[in-house]
Amino acid sequence: MARIVILGAGIGGVPMAYEMKETVGKKHDVIVISDSPTFHFVPSNPWVPPRWRTPEDLKIELAPVMKKKGIEFIQKAAAKVDPVNNQVELVDGSEVAYDFLIIATGPRLAFDEIPGLGPNGGYTSSVCHVDHAAVAAEDWDKFMENPGPIVIGAVQGASCYGPAYEYLMILETELRNKKVRDKVPMTFVTSEPYIGHLGLGGVGDTKGLMESALREKSIKWITNAKVDKVEPGMMFVTEVDEDGNDKKKHELPFKHSMMLPAFTGVDAVRNVEGLVNPRGFVLVDDHQRNTTFKNIYSVGVCIAIPPLEKTPVPVGVPKTGYMIESMVTTTAHNIADELAGKEPTHIATWNALCLADFGDSGVAFLAMPQIPPRNTTWSAEGKWVHLAKIGFEKYFMRKVRKGISEPYYEKLMLKLLGVVRIKGH
Ligand code: FAD
Repeated sequence: MARIVILGAGIGGVPMAYEMKETVGKKHDVIVISDSPTFHFVPSNPWVPPRWRTPEDLKIELAPVMKKKGIEFIQKAAAKVDPVNNQVELVDGSEVAYDFLIIATGPRLAFDEIPGLGPNGGYTSSVCHVDHAAVAAEDWDKFMENPGPIVIGAVQGASCYGPAYEYLMILETELRNKKVRDKVPMTFVTSEPYIGHLGLGGVGDTKGLMESALREKSIKWITNAKVDKVEPGMMFVTEVDEDGNDKKKHELPFKHSMMLPAFTGVDAVRNVEGLVNPRGFVLVDDHQRNTTFKNIYSVGVCIAIPPLEKTPVPVGVPKTGYMIESMVTTTAHNIADELAGKEPTHIATWNALCLADFGDSGVAFLAMPQIPPRNTTWSAEGKWVHLAKIGFEKYFMRKVRKGISEPYYEKLMLKLLGVVRIKGH
């Protein structure tokens, strides 16, 4: 009987545990290690500050559902992965041995790379973690008592741009709903070379759709932007030209700000030789398997993907839900193959299907594969995107609560692809 350990219980780790257990049944042990007793539905974090969701709405207790599924749940943080001895060291000094390890630890949020950035000792809010979003909600309440300028965006080296656009547009909708939009100048600051690049070189007409949405809502933007530092109520930004030379310095006053940081790998894996790249992301081959330690697989934001193209300011590639789902399914099948004495053959599709919620409408895009050149690109906008995002939240939360392991994106994509083909794209 093999011990399959999954480190991390987020959007990647929880479906990974369900699908792995479903695949190997009672023949092998599946064990989940998580630093949190609860699962968090990260995509809905931007709805917490305007109080469209409470933090509790987005959390699910993991111990009962894991027990029901026959999965061992260890609620402790990992201090270090020790691939030489096939074990994970936990913060209390104990060790968990494994035959196969699946690393699903998500990102470390590198606020420390820019002075004054982030909610822990800095001056900008965050929606990357539900606890950050809860603090941002308090900041938002104060903001609403005396509104002023807002600065939102993503810093140099960031790879997650969609949530920055979402948060911007959600707050814009909230301000209109509360009839105070006229008191709030809004600026979007991004390291992307153009609006709608998204770390993907754009998808379909995301450039046109996003630019138009910002223009329509009187939101200014600065692209090719590097945040130099943040002081209380003031962001210092350098805008660069196409060659990366300084073009203009901006001093942007704000009363509320949220900037997506760059990511690195988490401390438990970051300095393990052979396991990770210099930023601490887990190196994987086409089968999601580590290139050095063949009994380690990895899924989610913690894997290494090189940037798509050279940009004036560094821009990373996002790792989104559909892509993560394909990594999960691939890993489950490959480990099952290995347990059956075969070599892994399954390869993740890495497609992207994203719904960017704008509060009362939104933009959807499909990129197959996520990294160009692509066989299919498609983007669209409309009120339906906001409703679809709510539906997605409800579905995913139900899936986690019930321990369902079905690949949802794959199903949705097949339906959507029918629509896209009918429209002749
Ligand atoms: P996470 O969900 O962050 O899970 C990692 C887990 O590992 C966490 O529970 C963490 O506590 C745990 N962990 C970390 N270190 C340790 C340790 N040492 N020991 C034990 N446990 C540990 N993608 C989409 O496709 N659609 C969206 O709408 C969308 N919205 C997003 C909104 C926001 C605000 C953000 C930040 C990202 C969004 N993404 C979205 C991108 C992506 O899907 C999410 O970031 C997703 O949460 C990534 O899943 P993950 O499992 O890799 O990481």
